[in-house]
Amino acid sequence: MRSPAQTPSTRETTGADVAAASAEDVASAYALEHQEVLRRLEVDPEQGLSSEAAAASLEQHGPNRLPDPAQDHPFIRFIKHFNDVLIYVLIGAAGLTALLQHWADTIVILLVVVINAVVGFLQEGRAERALEGIRNMLSPSADVRREGSWATVDAELVVPGDIVRLRTGDKVPADVRLIDTAELAIEESALTGESVPSEKTTETSEQGAPLGDRTSMAFSGTMLTSGTATGVVVGTGENTEIGRINTMMSEVETLETPLTRQIARFGKMLSLGVLVLTLLLVSLGWGLHGTPIAELLQAAAGFAVAAIPEGLPALITITLALGVQTMARRNAITRKLSAVQTLGSVTTICSDKTGTLTKNEMTAERLVLADETFEVSGTGYIPEGEVTLDGQRVTLEHSGLRRFVEIMSLTNDTELIRNEAGSWTIAGEPTEGALKSLAGKLAFDDDAASRLATLPFSSENKLMATTAALPEGETFVLVKGAPDRLLARSSTQLTAQGQTAALDAEAWNEHIDALSADGLRVLAAACRPAQAQDRESLRMESLGEELIFVGVVGIVDPPRQEAIDAIKVCHDAGIQVKMITGDHAGTATAIALQMGIDNGQGAISGAELEATDDEELRTLAQRHHVFARTSPEHKLRLVRALQAEGEVVAMTGDGVNDAPALRRADVGVAMGLKGTEVTKDAAEVVLADDNFTTIEAAVEEGRRIYDNLRKALVFLLPTNGAQATVVLFAVAFGWTLPLTPLQVLWVNMVTGVTLAFAFAFEPAEDGIMRRRPRDPDAGIVETRHVVQIAVVSLLIAAVTIIVFRWRIDAGDDLEVARTLATTVLVVCQVFYLFSVKSLEKFSLRPSVLFKNKLAWLMVAALTLLQVGFIYLPWLHTIFDTAVLDPFYLLITLSSGVLVLVLTELLKLALYAGRASNPHTAPRR
Ligand code: ATP
Repeated sequence: MRSPAQTPSTRETTGADVAAASAEDVASAYALEHQEVLRRLEVDPEQGLSSEAAAASLEQHGPNRLPDPAQDHPFIRFIKHFNDVLIYVLIGAAGLTALLQHWADTIVILLVVVINAVVGFLQEGRAERALEGIRNMLSPSADVRREGSWATVDAELVVPGDIVRLRTGDKVPADVRLIDTAELAIEESALTGESVPSEKTTETSEQGAPLGDRTSMAFSGTMLTSGTATGVVVGTGENTEIGRINTMMSEVETLETPLTRQIARFGKMLSLGVLVLTLLLVSLGWGLHGTPIAELLQAAAGFAVAAIPEGLPALITITLALGVQTMARRNAITRKLSAVQTLGSVTTICSDKTGTLTKNEMTAERLVLADETFEVSGTGYIPEGEVTLDGQRVTLEHSGLRRFVEIMSLTNDTELIRNEAGSWTIAGEPTEGALKSLAGKLAFDDDAASRLATLPFSSENKLMATTAALPEGETFVLVKGAPDRLLARSSTQLTAQGQTAALDAEAWNEHIDALSADGLRVLAAACRPAQAQDRESLRMESLGEELIFVGVVGIVDPPRQEAIDAIKVCHDAGIQVKMITGDHAGTATAIALQMGIDNGQGAISGAELEATDDEELRTLAQRHHVFARTSPEHKLRLVRALQAEGEVVAMTGDGVNDAPALRRADVGVAMGLKGTEVTKDAAEVVLADDNFTTIEAAVEEGRRIYDNLRKALVFLLPTNGAQATVVLFAVAFGWTLPLTPLQVLWVNMVTGVTLAFAFAFEPAEDGIMRRRPRDPDAGIVETRHVVQIAVVSLLIAAVTIIVFRWRIDAGDDLEVARTLATTVLVVCQVFYLFSVKSLEKFSLRPSVLFKNKLAWLMVAALTLLQVGFIYLPWLHTIFDTAVLDPFYLLITLSSGVLVLVLTELLKLALYAGRASNPHTAPRR
């Protein structure tokens, strides 16, 4: 299976050489031996390309990217904004006014339609740019060997000739001829439609073999479901199989979500309602008052215009998209807009431990070998420190210690790197980094041994093994992994004298329990002499159960302090936090206790989970907060069990096998740093920093965005409600219309384009994380909000009608009274805005009034517009308005204050029970 790579030529690779090597030369790389492919591409697999060669190749072949998917022409996208029932009604109204030859009305209504489309188009562009930016944050990377060392580069910079390293869960960055594989299987459904992963080796296939049979190739865009590999890139960008069939791999995010669909449905129903009411209105006016039909039709047009919230769709989209952008700034990258809605209703967060709740900065602290306990000094990955036994420094002269370090350092894919600033980091996995650092402290020389075959680590096996040719001339199978797994496969143990003796599993278990009770992560080492077939390949089945157990190491991985705080916030917000880890039960419980997760019920192990049926599991899943030694399949069962108990579950994951659980969870959360591409693809949210705190922040953001959408609706709908009511009442009672259709449009437009957008930027209310999660089945506006919308509509309508009739009866000109009525409507809206800023609680507090600067900016903009409306002569001509003297301005302000006071009282009546008791007992 494994064929060690050979160096094809020792000739130096230069930029000119690579430029000369053409991708066509390796077009049938699958049919050529990999040595031949390497020769043609003139690259040494141990060195990779030089920087100049890579730059030259990039210049020649272009970036490794597929062309963007075809998008509608901007004009088409603009036109699409007219395709909305609400707009049809408006166009109908314009037609009606044209019939009556009220040209000014027609023009203004049409203008509104166009302005609405322009605003929608611009906002959509902005929303899409926001999402695009977020997508770019998720752009894949690749591990390439350049100038002799491995580096992670943006997948776009991969060029033909690059040596790449692939691991389980990676998305293959380009078309790659494999030169070294271990247990490799790749899912190629994107290309072949075949969802069963195909096994890959380095063997050549026949010239002209179908894609699915080209076993020595890893194709761009396909996924590694198991194993590891290295290979040489033979095609990039459009010059790959996926490029040739020209399919976009990355899912194209649309701006549509269940919420926007819900709103669209609401819009349709509303339009129908408006039509029915318009008919009713016309028949009422005609039947009861004998109002002339021309006047009625004008009123009908005004009514339709008044009742329709034109700005609503754009408002929802932009609020969602901007919210998602804010979330990304807090390191939670939302892959699906709809996740925002679900995040706000999450009731249980199931989190990994390592790296999410803990720092993932591992240091080996204590070793136990055949009853000798060693202490290790030093922190972080710096390979400086001492290993002591009873206070005495020990070296590799100690044969047991030597074998232990040999296993831990050779069964290891991680490298310690000293960066320019002199500090030490790792390329690879923290657990392995800690072991490399331990080896460094003992000045162990890796290069003296050579690795012949590898069984990569997997979360199912919980171990990794290599066959290594050791400097003394022996060949050994070295195994490191979870102590219970290794104990189960061992029959003997290494004594202090370097002999083998019968395995004392009981003593080892005591050591393991003692280490894990201190919250240490425990890893064990075992070995056995290699057999002939182990030199070729290693498989789980061939490991056998005759291993020699060598010892265990305890590694510290301190909890993240900020995660402890975030867990507390979650508990206060009525959200349970559960730890699901592959680690040992003792370690998991110790850490869970430190972090405030364990509720005293202790840990349930993967084995115990397996022994329960689905019914029992539901109880266990609810009762316990710590699940240890779990495999990815257990996550899926746990998600199902919790959902069956009515929980809305957010589940984290990083490995390939976590993908099904993430898909099943209400919110799948993938790790951005540690997670594989497969997992990210299955997730709704990707954490850029792998930190639990970010999940809590995302939930908080989800709640804020949802609140703001609800506020925008509760704010916007009474605007239309009030105007429609004014027109309806006037016609029903045969009064002069307090606002002309044009004036109604004015109010709609100016409030719609200013005030409503203030909510996209509204900060979270105090105590947003001291509320219980939202009921996921409840609509965005619940009954109490509908009551509020209805009452406020009537209230503002009443104030407007009363002021209008009062001034008419006092003998004012119709123009003056109408200008006043229009201004009253606008000002009432402004005051109502401040009431809605805190939807269910008292608003007149500095934290509500002054936190959102944009709201004030919008109010200022609106004031300017309204002043123009009252005082600009040319607007007088269009809108039939007149100048108001200061006394009238006082009337409008008083009306606004009145509306604010009354709506605050209304909130008290509607929400008193909730407002006084937002803090429900935390769930633990
Ligand atoms: P979490 O699921 O919270 O991230 P985890 O990292 O411990 O926890 P896994 O990565 O599945 O979960 O590891 C499970 C166990 O496998 C570990 O407890 C450890 O004993 C062992 N293990 C982890 N990494 C390696 C490795 N690189 N080589 C060998 N064994 C390992």
